[in-house]
Amino acid sequence: MSGIYIHIPFCKQACHYCDFHFSTNMKYKEDMVAALCEEIRLRKNEYIKTTVETIYFGGGTPSVLELSQINQIIDAVDQHYQVAENPEITLEANPDDLTTEKLAQLNDSPVNRLSIGIQSFFEEDLKLMNRAHNAQEALACIVQAQTYFDNISIDLIYGIPDMTADRWRENIYKAIELKIPHISSYALTVEDNTALKSFIEKGLIPKVDDELAQEHFHILLDAMQLHGYSNYEFSNFGKEGYFSKNNTAYWTGKSYIGIGPSAHSFDGKRRGWNINNNVKYLKSIQASELPIEIEELTIVDRYNEYVMTGLRTIYGISLNKIEQEYGVNFKDYLLIQASEYLKDHLLYLDGDTLMVTRKGKFLSDGIASDLFMLNLN
Ligand code: SF4
Repeated sequence: MSGIYIHIPFCKQACHYCDFHFSTNMKYKEDMVAALCEEIRLRKNEYIKTTVETIYFGGGTPSVLELSQINQIIDAVDQHYQVAENPEITLEANPDDLTTEKLAQLNDSPVNRLSIGIQSFFEEDLKLMNRAHNAQEALACIVQAQTYFDNISIDLIYGIPDMTADRWRENIYKAIELKIPHISSYALTVEDNTALKSFIEKGLIPKVDDELAQEHFHILLDAMQLHGYSNYEFSNFGKEGYFSKNNTAYWTGKSYIGIGPSAHSFDGKRRGWNINNNVKYLKSIQASELPIEIEELTIVDRYNEYVMTGLRTIYGISLNKIEQEYGVNFKDYLLIQASEYLKDHLLYLDGDTLMVTRKGKFLSDGIASDLFMLNLN
């Protein structure tokens, strides 16, 4: 099983916190769609024996594409790869793009899952983050989308400065009341070279507070557990049957091809990065050259990645797998490094599987880094 990720590098406006690769200049949209299709063709041999089970349009904002452009890309995948009978095809969409007309069009396309960037149902949060939509659009687009799509995920952001616990709880309960089967929820983080960072440095916005984010995360865990959502990955909550197949494939080490500027690829042993510049990407593809840098993963890289994703997901870290794939020294090292966390009840052993406890969950990335091995190559 494998997936294809397609990066659509355009957004209508820059959200203050975002450090993803995108451009607000839509001039190259058509050229970009042609180049994405060409990259799909150029890389057809990478998946010659594999069936594509998931196609994921991420970005950027894939919903800025016309329906014909989305179909053109899906057709290119169909033409050059062996695609499963009923693949999961997700489109990330922003509320301001999801008009009734657009939703009706998408309903007639092969897209069968929407991931909507709601972020908050409150005007003050949306303004602070400089989202392109308002609170009324956030709500209205979900109600409209549900008339066409059942498999819907929304994104919600917590830990926003000045967001009270009550406001955060209202956001979560709005999603629950709307019966949304999948929620991806992230703490607001302050990345370099973002407007958010500069506003905080100038004192225009209060600092992002880790304790506030931790409090919000626990409110989220309680609400999700109470209402039957499984926290199958640190930031992802789904009702039974609605886990993202695409993301689950990433977290369980399956291979994927990333198409488009800044997209990443992974084939089990090597990781690739496409150039994160639209014009350079276009020129390179137009010259039939793949704008990709490839890194061979060492055994230590692979161990570290497995530890990181294992701790973030319900699958945990299998000691047996560590011993079989990386050797007994890795397993012994892992158990030594984990011992203090086991004593402090931040980690626990479920049979052969090392997992984070509820208390350790919010700290899982920090704990994982203490279980990492140093890569001396
Ligand atoms: S819409 Fe998404 S990708 Fe675009 S700027 Fe906002 S957060 Fe970033």
